[in-house]
Amino acid sequence: MMGNIVKEKLFINGKWVETDTTHKIYNKYTGELFSEVCVADERLVDQAVEAAVYAHKNTLFLPEHRYTILMRTAELLLESSEEFAKIIAQEGGKPITDAKVEVNRSISTLKIAADETKKLVGEIIPNYNVPGRFMYTVKKPVGVVAAITPFNFPLNLVVHKVAPALAAGNPVIIKPASDTATTAIKLCKLLEKAGVPNGYVQCVVGSGSTVGEQLLRDERIAHYTFTGSPAVGKHIRKTIGLRKATLELGSNSATIVHSDANVGKAAMRLAKMAFSHAGQICISVQRIFVQESIQEKFLEKFLKEVSLLKVGDPLDPDTDVGPMINESEAKRIEQWVREAKEGGAEILIGGTREGNIFHPTVITNVRKGMKALDEEVFAPVVTVSAYRTIEEAIELVNDSKYGLQAGIYTSDLNLSYKIPYLLEVGGVIINDTCCYRVDQMPYGGVKESGNGKEGPSYAIQDLVETVTVVVNLED
Ligand code: NDP
Repeated sequence: MMGNIVKEKLFINGKWVETDTTHKIYNKYTGELFSEVCVADERLVDQAVEAAVYAHKNTLFLPEHRYTILMRTAELLLESSEEFAKIIAQEGGKPITDAKVEVNRSISTLKIAADETKKLVGEIIPNYNVPGRFMYTVKKPVGVVAAITPFNFPLNLVVHKVAPALAAGNPVIIKPASDTATTAIKLCKLLEKAGVPNGYVQCVVGSGSTVGEQLLRDERIAHYTFTGSPAVGKHIRKTIGLRKATLELGSNSATIVHSDANVGKAAMRLAKMAFSHAGQICISVQRIFVQESIQEKFLEKFLKEVSLLKVGDPLDPDTDVGPMINESEAKRIEQWVREAKEGGAEILIGGTREGNIFHPTVITNVRKGMKALDEEVFAPVVTVSAYRTIEEAIELVNDSKYGLQAGIYTSDLNLSYKIPYLLEVGGVIINDTCCYRVDQMPYGGVKESGNGKEGPSYAIQDLVETVTVVVNLED
């Protein structure tokens, strides 16, 4: 304990381990020291993998036990939800109202994953052309799982990896984003209290370039479940060879507002979802395409809504937009907006920075080649462009190296039916923005947005091995 700052230990093989090297985590709004977390060295990471392998081979971890642990963790999280929301608001800079939503979603993710423990069944294979053989499949855990997670949902994105891994019966090693690692450590405390067997959940904190790299190169790890940037996702693919990975990566997600849409509703919701968590959400609304006949009406309502957003302290329940994760990220987006302006774009609102706060920014007259349009902004910046025909809008949405989710506002039933087949994305949200996710739905992208699906009942498919059994019934 240093002043009122607690030194958070690492959870390795059922024990809390203190190390000499620590990582300081700051309150993203005030800049004050928030917590100090122990950092794992090479030896500790190795010990964690060894303990996970041992647990996998030697512990009888039955589905009923997994169910009880996940449900108990959900109960414990509910009891400490205020505490978790405050940690997320301080170390992650997420407005407290959104942090509370994240905690509630995490409780729900744990419960959904618990139910999956009851569904791990194989199937009988029909043998209509092979008399004398009985064939069936069984599902077994894949082995040690490494969960590498980002800063922006420091609880729910850890739960989305840990809970399905446990439900499937796998030991999981968490490597949380260093900047928001307190939340992951606190989650381990709940899992310990819930009775998780030694070695089944461990947490190793340290930078991606050290701890992350070591995990990637350790051949004892069977599966990687990663959420983060496309650059690191590609690096993981290259490094792990034939071992399996689920990759949830970035995007420059789009929403179409068609001529037959409810413009008022669309404008209000888009203003909220383009700037939620300061735009640092992988499906944040980054590109809005509006049919030209309603562009003026849309912009008038949209800009009014954006101007009403309250920027400030994440702990204030009235705050809509908090700080970005650090000042260098805020400076990066300031530069991207400046470049867009120099290239002919028009800033309709925002464009200013104070420290790591970037004010909600709407840009128009953007064109291909501008980073603010082509790359993932991951900041409170949105572009608005007009289109003539729906075919043109679809082309604009698809003209991206990413493909996570897309939204469309329309009252046309035929278009609603057809559009999921035409957009190159992993999820289509009709009459809401692209920034929509609930935890039971299959979630994941195409192109550089990654591969594999999250949502416990989908994630678990990659976390079990299907073993085929053939029984020869002939003497
Ligand atoms: P990063 O890719 O920078 O980091 C994600 C995690 O990977 C962190 O734990 C980081 O560690 C670790 N890491 C970094 N380098 C390596 C490496 N060489 N080997 C192994 N691990 C490594 O992403 P951010 O945390 O900045 O998160 C933002 C990104 O995440 C955005 O692109 C966003 O779109 C994406 N994202 C995608 C989501 C989805 O579901 N598709 C959801 C949320 C975010 P450390 O930071 O400690 O160095």
